[in-house]
Amino acid sequence: RRPALRFGERALTHAELAAAAGALAGRLGGAVPPGAESTGTESTAPGTAAQAARRVALWATPSLETAVAVVAALTAGVPVVPLNPKSGERELGHILADSAPSLVLAAPGDELPEPVRALERVDVDVRGTGTYAPAEVDDESPALVVYTSGTTGPPKGALILRRAVASTLDALADAWQWTEDDVLVHGLPLFHVHGLVLGVLGPLRRGGSVRHLGRFDTDGVARELGAGATMLFGVPTMYHRIAEALPGDPELAKALAGARLLVSGSAALPVHDHERIATATGRRVIERYGMTETLMNTSVRADGEPRAGTVGVPLPGVDLRLVEEDGTPIPAYDGETVGEIQVRGPNLFTGYLNRPDATAAAFTADGWFRTGDMAVREPDGYVRIVGRKATDLIKSGGYKIGAGEIENALLEHPGVREAAVTGEPDDDLGERIVAWVVPADPADLPGADELADHVARRLAPHKRPRTVRYLDALPRNDMGKIMKRALGDA
Ligand code: ATP
Ligand code: MG
Repeated sequence: RRPALRFGERALTHAELAAAAGALAGRLGGAVPPGAESTGTESTAPGTAAQAARRVALWATPSLETAVAVVAALTAGVPVVPLNPKSGERELGHILADSAPSLVLAAPGDELPEPVRALERVDVDVRGTGTYAPAEVDDESPALVVYTSGTTGPPKGALILRRAVASTLDALADAWQWTEDDVLVHGLPLFHVHGLVLGVLGPLRRGGSVRHLGRFDTDGVARELGAGATMLFGVPTMYHRIAEALPGDPELAKALAGARLLVSGSAALPVHDHERIATATGRRVIERYGMTETLMNTSVRADGEPRAGTVGVPLPGVDLRLVEEDGTPIPAYDGETVGEIQVRGPNLFTGYLNRPDATAAAFTADGWFRTGDMAVREPDGYVRIVGRKATDLIKSGGYKIGAGEIENALLEHPGVREAAVTGEPDDDLGERIVAWVVPADPADLPGADELADHVARRLAPHKRPRTVRYLDALPRNDMGKIMKRALGDA
């Protein structure tokens, strides 16, 4: 009878969720052809839709239906492809062609756009009742096909095993001391790992509960934490909004101060926002680091020391190393030597759908996954991400410079609201540091020299931006991640 899920006015207890998911699982389950997931290119088996439900798409609005559908499909052993309802027709077309689902699960009344409408539709009944005796489902079979956020290129479909979901949630339960008494405040979308695996399946696996805000806003956070919720998961843009609202909102400050755990992930949390929240609430946000392909890799532990600008230590079961460009592991934890993060463990995906080239390129010969993220490790093992290899590592004047620390320094300038740093080809330096700045007040631009001096004073002279460009807003995707690829066209 304990609460499991609440979205707006609608809620389900654990027993109601089990009944609704059981009823739907009965319609989906029973006929997943053995081995049908092996290549991702096979054609749909004949028979009724339910019998052919070898992989199902899910119109993943932030709703009870989405949560029930995922639990049902996991119960039935049918892999789910969550679709982003905000995607354009072209992206949806690509994802449907790539993942070839046999049907789409949706909330009754939801309107589906053209390429999705072509699929057979099964409406999700959150008041359905049924029981379903789960077939023996192999732990090594797929649970989900989740498309990456598309921050650095077109989204790729990652094949995520049931074992990976289970192991990552159990590792987080250990790191975060997660219990059935935890109540999560959730304001994230449900088509990525963060909102779906951590935000919905995480609390359910521990017997806890989820209160989804529908749309994130700071009033909702204050209300739910004020009413006894214990945890908040968010992306950095949410914590930025919280940091901005705190000075004028004592209720919000009080609510955050009473939370057990404030967690940020999906992108780097700017140090400036971390510090402002700590000052106003006495609480430090903890960061975890993960990706679609690996689920969660590291986190600051609930019983550990939160430290601005770091993502903590490897989770139980995860092997993590930093490697030089030639693949040699870096032995030292000296807080200085930058290397690419590689990981290994039960949390890893098995490959990208229909992309054997990208899959092969992503793994080393001995099974480590190349994350493409660059980091240093502090002497005590804490990981500090400096940025992505492809877009955030600037090679200038013989130095390797991470965009992140320059962005953090810029954000501490009162005239800067948002900042992104990139490298551009330069005859002298190899690459030149370019700062893209959204001013706090468009009528009072901080000067380029002023900003460059500010950075040089805080960091080092060679980290000084050579060019400053002003923008009204940074290009961001649905997770609030800065799309650096799009900056050149700005
Ligand atoms: P694509 O792979 O399609 O370009 P993406 O990498 O943004 O998009 P995701 O799998 O959603 O897609 O995001 C994983 C990435 O997000 C990581 O590789 C890392 O760069 C970044 N990330 C996640 N958590 C953190 C964090 N706490 N700090 C810094 N970066 C993070
Ligand atoms: Mg990626």
